[in-house]
Amino acid sequence: MKKYDHKKIERKWQKYWREKKIYRTKEGGKKPKCYVLDMFPYPSGEGLHIGHPRGYIATDVYSRFKRMNGFNVLHPMGFDSFGLPAENYAIKNKIHPEVAVKNNVKKFKKQLEIIGFDYDWDREIITSDPNFYKWTQWIFLKMFEKGLAYESYEPINFCPSCLTGLANEDVEDGKCERCATPVVKKPMRQWVLKITDYAERMLKDLDELKGWPEHIKEAQRNWIGRSEGGEIDFSVIKSSPKPNFLILHGYTGRADKNFIPWLKEELEKKGYHVQSPQMPNTDNPTENEQVDYVVDNCQIDKDTIVVGHSLGAIVAMKMIIKIKKPIQGLVLVAAAMDPASQTSESRLFHRTFNWDIDFNMLKKTAGFRIVLSDIAENKRINYLEKLANNLDAKLVVGLAAKEHFTAKEEPLILQTLLPSIKVFTTRVDTIFGCTYVVLSPESKIIRQLTDQISNLEEVEKYIEEAKNKTELQRTDLTKDKTGVELKGIKAINPFNNEEVPIFVADYVLGGYGTGAVMAVPAHDERDWEFTKKHNLPVKMVVCPNYPKPICPVLENAYTGEGHLVGSGEFSGMKSNEAKEKMTKWLEEKKLGNKMINYKLKDWVFSRQRYWGEPIPLIHCENCGVVAVPEKDLPVKLPKVKFYEPTDTGESPLAKMEKWVNVKCPKCGGKGKRETNTMPQWAGSSWYYLAYIVKQNSKFKIQNSKLLNNWLPIDMYVGGTEHATRHLIYARFWYKFLYDIKVVGDKEPFAGLKNQGLILGSDGRKMSKRWGNVVNPDDVIKEHGADSLRLYEMFMGPFDQTIEWSMDNIVGARRFIEKVWKLQLKAAKFINLQRNFRLQYSVTAMVGGENLKYKINSKLEKLIHKTIKKVGEDIEAMKFNTAVSSLMILLNKIEKENEISKNIFETFLIILAPFAPHITEELWKNIGNKRSILFEKWPKYDKEKIENDVISIAIQINGKVRASIEIANHENDDKVKEKALSNEKIKKWISDKSIKKVLYIKYKIISIITN
Ligand SMILES: [Zn+2]
Ligand SMILES: [Zn+2]
Repeated sequence: MKKYDHKKIERKWQKYWREKKIYRTKEGGKKPKCYVLDMFPYPSGEGLHIGHPRGYIATDVYSRFKRMNGFNVLHPMGFDSFGLPAENYAIKNKIHPEVAVKNNVKKFKKQLEIIGFDYDWDREIITSDPNFYKWTQWIFLKMFEKGLAYESYEPINFCPSCLTGLANEDVEDGKCERCATPVVKKPMRQWVLKITDYAERMLKDLDELKGWPEHIKEAQRNWIGRSEGGEIDFSVIKSSPKPNFLILHGYTGRADKNFIPWLKEELEKKGYHVQSPQMPNTDNPTENEQVDYVVDNCQIDKDTIVVGHSLGAIVAMKMIIKIKKPIQGLVLVAAAMDPASQTSESRLFHRTFNWDIDFNMLKKTAGFRIVLSDIAENKRINYLEKLANNLDAKLVVGLAAKEHFTAKEEPLILQTLLPSIKVFTTRVDTIFGCTYVVLSPESKIIRQLTDQISNLEEVEKYIEEAKNKTELQRTDLTKDKTGVELKGIKAINPFNNEEVPIFVADYVLGGYGTGAVMAVPAHDERDWEFTKKHNLPVKMVVCPNYPKPICPVLENAYTGEGHLVGSGEFSGMKSNEAKEKMTKWLEEKKLGNKMINYKLKDWVFSRQRYWGEPIPLIHCENCGVVAVPEKDLPVKLPKVKFYEPTDTGESPLAKMEKWVNVKCPKCGGKGKRETNTMPQWAGSSWYYLAYIVKQNSKFKIQNSKLLNNWLPIDMYVGGTEHATRHLIYARFWYKFLYDIKVVGDKEPFAGLKNQGLILGSDGRKMSKRWGNVVNPDDVIKEHGADSLRLYEMFMGPFDQTIEWSMDNIVGARRFIEKVWKLQLKAAKFINLQRNFRLQYSVTAMVGGENLKYKINSKLEKLIHKTIKKVGEDIEAMKFNTAVSSLMILLNKIEKENEISKNIFETFLIILAPFAPHITEELWKNIGNKRSILFEKWPKYDKEKIENDVISIAIQINGKVRASIEIANHENDDKVKEKALSNEKIKKWISDKSIKKVLYIKYKIISIITN
């Protein structure tokens, strides 16, 4: 027997597999399909470290096992080559990313090949291949067509070191996931995918994913973060004194026309005093008559807010100038125009009014001034802008319900007079306990209220400071809750019309619900802490003790449910009932509605970097954003010399004028290409389809019949770090592809398993910094790929983190050497049978139903048990216990002087998925011609396993006195009976009386006597 030479054997078989393409997957046939997939690697410059192969070996074992069980297996491999890792490597080493990727892929492939994987390399994909990314672009365009891709200018997470915008999923604890630099919020133009449209489906369908680990599903549920609640309007008013309103109608108008009766009623409902006089001679008014009428007939004091519509706005100004008394505010709605600013059409009143207005006087007497303009009333807008300027007033431009604010209801006027804050809450049942309202620093409503906030400077300073804090810092429960009250205004609780203070505080996030919350310190922990710090009242409204008359004194927020107290007509109801009734009440009064909120945010789908898929859109001067026609795909990434990121917030592509400037595909006019590129996670959102269609249609996924033959993926293996990123994105894209009928089912990955990390032998994460990185190439060189494979599968439960151990790899190597020596024991038998064997086909001899072992019955049973155990364990990805039972079997076989061919062959077959090289070699050595991969997985004999005999010890009063053999199917009573009838036991017991007989299954029988 030759010495075991792993180098020679492994090289030989890898060459054979490659040349014969024995792992190539063919289409068609009657075999059931099995699609086994690894999360593909980024071809970074560092190459594979020892942790990478753990998952790859697992899918390799699994896919080989499936092949042997009669499945048509697809097990491909590719490279995720676009994105930051490849680009940063290229920049650091001053090699163009395209060249760097090519080199790195080559290196990775070589590393993978020497581990002996059963990949079908004909299906290899590289995401930066234009033939591939043509279809990434195609899917994007389909999303754009369906309104799922939109342009946004909202502030996004930005990494100042990577110089690019990031998606929420790229941020970990407020830091860039790639480089750990704290991210900042930066407003920039970007493309965003509306993943939130799919939030509900992504959440619901998780329940159907029976083949997923529960913790991954839970992580996704939390990431999607659905909460059901309500959106409630809190009106904002200037804090006491309470204002009163005077509404003046316009030319030819009446107090009972247009919006005036409605507005009066709305304000009165909220408890305000409102005057809306009918003015004299409205068809032919004069200034003096109208102004005097108001002065004589209306009560005007320092708390009056005067609202004038159209000509009523001019009357309002003239009237205030005349009385020379301070008022709370002046709101001019679509004010009539000075004839001097008007070119055509003269009106009667132009001559009867004096158009000189003392703006300085108005600025002094009216506490605040607002000019309201209807955006649809073109000719008036410029004039109103000038008017707002002269008055130093806030200009509000919006859409009136009917041009010039002439509808029966004009909500914009009401919103201007009484701005409202929409708060989001999941606990509307606690609203009577609201003692203040909190706005997030990002809240837009603050900008609407600036003229009414008396401590604006302090508020703005606070908002500015909040920008420098990370989300984690802001929401950290242990951190002090800071905030500033918006002085000068209050919010009104719609349920009890109570006035409560308004704060801006950074513990409320802009992206949560409406970015505003009602604070209920008695029933919310954060609010409780804030309240204690700022000395605000606490009002308990949900009582856990009800109906006992006394509610507890709170020492902390009570966040559970209970019965409502101190909640008006809702008192006494249970939380759930109250939630329902109160939401209904809000909806009837049009003060709020049901709202579902998700933590998941739309996906920022832009990078200001070079190395990514170009976004196939063109900005046209005439047509706006236009899609690149399908026939012009792919939009290839131009070759550039300089690909470093810029600090202008623009992609380096923006400088490529030749590439950027194109004709608009729609009108032929001047257009510019979109210069943002797609993020890292674009290609990986659909690459698993590309393996299927690569050869038949050059990646064309549209109208492909092959896709449904192979989908969904039966077993997908990768790290848990992808739980809330790649696996969220890929499910989103797949569901979209389902909607546009590219694929036929709703979920891409039926089975999912996560490999645990491999730490350095010092217990730390492998890193160059610690000098604890193990390179698989070195291990293979010394011990061989089969030893590495066996060790990585044996080292511990597959999904658990474990330390690398050089001692244990030696143990694996020893096992492989023992297998090598086993051929000596089989040699004699094989030689004898050689002639006989040649008359039969190999498959008829082994792996069939009738294994004939010319050996003792104990070994025979163990073989059947091992076949069962290894098969079931591989199916369940419990590789360590599978290997351990192979080891037990080997130890037993070794004790035999000689073994039959069948035993040897069976052992090789069930070891082959783990150690394909040595098993191929030995398989060939004993005369087989075909690859061992084509052997059928042997069947075990159920009866042989069930009739297994177990030896059990018998104790009497704690001392072992005898042992008996039982069959493992015998029931407990029978076992006890056997024990008691054992001759030795009978002797020990003799005349003593038996108190108790205990049987611990398959282990021990304990007899207790008096
Ligand atoms: Zn970064
Ligand atoms: Zn155009």
